[in-house]
Amino acid sequence: MQTSFTPAQLADPQVAESEKILRRCVHCGFCTATCPTYVTLGNELDSPRGRIYLIKDMLENGRPADEEVVTHIDRCLSCLACVTTCPSGVDYMHLVDHARIHIENTYRRSLPDRLIRNLLAAVLPYPARFRTALGFARLGRPFAALLKRVPALKPLGAMLDLAPKSAARFSDAAKPGTRPAGAQKRGRVAILSGCAQPVLDPGINEATLRLLARLGIEVVVPEGEGCCGALVHHMGREGEALDFARRNVDVWTREIEKGGLDAIIITASGCGTTIKDYGHMLRLDPAYAEKAARVSGLARDITEYLVGLDLPKLEPRRLNVAYHSACSMQHGQKITMAPKNLLKAAGFTVRDPAEGHLCCGSAGTYNILQPEISAQLKARKVKNIEATKPDVIATGNIGCITQIASGTAIPILHTVELLDWAYGGPKPEKLAAG
Ligand code: SF4
Ligand code: SF4
Repeated sequence: MQTSFTPAQLADPQVAESEKILRRCVHCGFCTATCPTYVTLGNELDSPRGRIYLIKDMLENGRPADEEVVTHIDRCLSCLACVTTCPSGVDYMHLVDHARIHIENTYRRSLPDRLIRNLLAAVLPYPARFRTALGFARLGRPFAALLKRVPALKPLGAMLDLAPKSAARFSDAAKPGTRPAGAQKRGRVAILSGCAQPVLDPGINEATLRLLARLGIEVVVPEGEGCCGALVHHMGREGEALDFARRNVDVWTREIEKGGLDAIIITASGCGTTIKDYGHMLRLDPAYAEKAARVSGLARDITEYLVGLDLPKLEPRRLNVAYHSACSMQHGQKITMAPKNLLKAAGFTVRDPAEGHLCCGSAGTYNILQPEISAQLKARKVKNIEATKPDVIATGNIGCITQIASGTAIPILHTVELLDWAYGGPKPEKLAAG
């Protein structure tokens, strides 16, 4: 694609990067076929190619974002299916990141939109606040249908719908400290506790800690670690996202220097995609660029790490598992086979639902901010999963777990919970009744 940025515009490193990305696009349109919003809405402006044109036009003319651009960029899930499909290697992820920052800096959203976004940014990344908010959300659940009838309040209704029905239990898994290896020590890692996951489903990191201990891995939960920044990053709130990233880089750098780390383990693939991008996000900060790149280089999804530990092959156990590959796992991190191979080796029968490349509609805060499109994608995803007639669904991202669980009665677990069970851990609570 031809571009006509001026030398003055290109002096801005972010514009210079976006220009390089734009130039790679050859308008072929292959990406449209796998874009969930294009597949759902059928509008070229809701396809990757359409959005690329909108972004190019906005940046090239140095214009503030307008309503049209904001509408179509807001509808983008950042699922990155287009990145997987694109034959020209267009780095849509960093282009849309730039567009979102530009929108945040130049566009004044409506008051309800600003309030809901501020609320999400002030609550979700902080476990204590999020836990309190979920308590209020449970009380408000009966009003969800009423709120969804008022267009400006639909996101609040969607939020209440997604809130778990019962209070989340407290867990020691997120407590700072070192968990010794339970067998002969063969590694030392840090684990990200995260923000929303330990509140919504503490069993995921509990299973991870148990499994790693049995495999001889010492695990440290570092003091001071927090949200990875993905939630605000996807809202274009760059300053806040970089603050979260710097804080975690400092914490993990201290651990690297103290006892050495083989990996930084992440059990939510949405967070993993962002942490693997810290090196890029902080590339222009001379005080952090190197440290952030080192942290990104150590970041591993739990399944990626487990594959390197050569777990033994187990007898088949007659349980059909539909594996849902989160977008951040398959498109963001390009991890496609590791989770399925681990499940198969652990004796599970793995089924691949149709249209596995399409997003379930969770996408961070998307299911709150774009509830209608999200609901359509969820229904499509659940139909495809249920068609495989599974006993259980496995996936590697808490956002997908929450989203899909709200549309089906089939239990949905994190992959590592099934692996922990297969290799000697307790039966997961969600299966315990079965
Ligand atoms: S990130 Fe996903 S929703 Fe956004 S343009 Fe690409 S394929 Fe479409
Ligand atoms: S597939 Fe790639 S090159 Fe083709 S239109 Fe989409 S982004 Fe551009």
